Amino acid sequence: MSEPSIFTRILNGEIPSEIIAQTDTVFAIRDIAPKAPVHLLVIPKTARYRDVTELAAGDPELLSEMVAVAKDLAAEYSNGDFRLIFNAGPDAGQTVFHVHAHVLAGGLSESSMGA
Ligand code: 5GP
Repeated sequence: MSEPSIFTRILNGEIPSEIIAQTDTVFAIRDIAPKAPVHLLVIPKTARYRDVTELAAGDPELLSEMVAVAKDLAAEYSNGDFRLIFNAGPDAGQTVFHVHAHVLAGGLSESSMGA
C-alpha cells in the first residue's frame, strides 16, 4: 500500500483544512495556494483513481457527481460561472495523484490557471 494522499489525510482530519461541502462520495476544500478569487478543489473520497482519465473509465457516475458539486459550489461562492480543470500527469502540473477538480471562479482573467 502506498502512503495516503494529502487529500485522504485532510478527509481523515490528519491535516487541517475546512471541508466546505461533501456528499456520500465527494468532498470539497479551498485550495491552499489559490490561483483565482475562488479556487476550490472537488475530490472523490476514494483515492483509487489517480487522474481524470482513470476516473472516467472506472466510475463515470463519480465524475458526474464531481461536476454537479462543482456547479453548486460555483453558485454558492461566486455567480455560478466557473472553470473546471483537471491536471493529468506531472507535465500538465499534476502534483497530487488522487484525482481532483480545480473549480476556479470570480473575476477570472487570462492569466489565471489554464487557458
Ligand atoms: P494539482 O497540482 O495536483 O493539479 O493540484 C493540487 C492542488 O492541491 C494544488 O493546487 C495545491 O495548491 C493544493 N494543495 C496541496 N496541498 C494542499 C493542502 O495541504 N491543503 C489544501 N487546501 N490544498 C493543497
